[in-house]
Order: sequence, then C-alpha cells, then structure tokens
Amino acid sequence: MSRVLVVEDNNANRELVVALLEQEGCEILVAGTAEAGLRLVREARPHLILMDVHLPGMSGYEATKQLKADPVTARIPILAVTAQAMKEDETRAQQAGCDGYIAKPLEAKAFCETIRRFLAQGTDEPGHRKKED
Ligand code: MN
Repeated sequence: MSRVLVVEDNNANRELVVALLEQEGCEILVAGTAEAGLRLVREARPHLILMDVHLPGMSGYEATKQLKADPVTARIPILAVTAQAMKEDETRAQQAGCDGYIAKPLEAKAFCETIRRFLAQGTDEPGHRKKED
C-alpha cells in the first residue's frame, strides 16, 4: 500500500486531501507543520509527500530543500500544493526541488490523476531507490 504524507495547516484542505487519498486506497500520514512533517518522513518513509507551501513556522519550500538535501530522503517525490494562479509559488516550489505541484482549490479528478502518476513511478524502498524500469 502506498504511504502518502500530507503536510497542510488548513483543516478543510487537509480533510479534502485525506478523503481523496482514501478513495485512492492510500495509507495516509498527516502533519500540520513542516517540522512535524520532517519528523514523520524520517519515522515512516512515505512514498509520496504533498507539501503545502505556506505553513506556520518553517515553510514548505524550506522543508522540501532539507528533504532534497538529505540523501536518505532525496528521492521521495514531493508535490507542492500551491494556490492556483500563483506562478511565483510554482517557480519557488520548483527551485526548492519539488517534483511537481498541485493547484488549490483542488479539483478531484486532476488531483487523483496526478497522485496516481507519481505513485505509479514506484519506489521499492522509499527514500532509497527508485524503480528505473
Ligand atoms: Mn497553508
């Protein structure tokens, strides 16, 4: 089963994301801050991370940079969750090392397609190796 970590400080957004991921049959971990998210990544090695970029305390950009700088977690795909039409957020997310992004407000069909695409890439050992076939 795919383990997905959702880092999101907004309850309504988090509930929506969790509901959609449940439909996809994912095992879900949630964190309301980047700091808690970083701890969960190390403890649970998710296969995919959905990272809200605007968080209290450490931003999602900074958390992404830290994860991508650490060889143990660098290969876990991170999708930035950014407000629609915020081109600047997209650019910053890319610069921080995000593998893709999801626009808010979430559109269920597009969201699920993106999640499936990233989970299908597969990681044999999350955070260590990516299946290259
Ligand atoms: Mn937020």
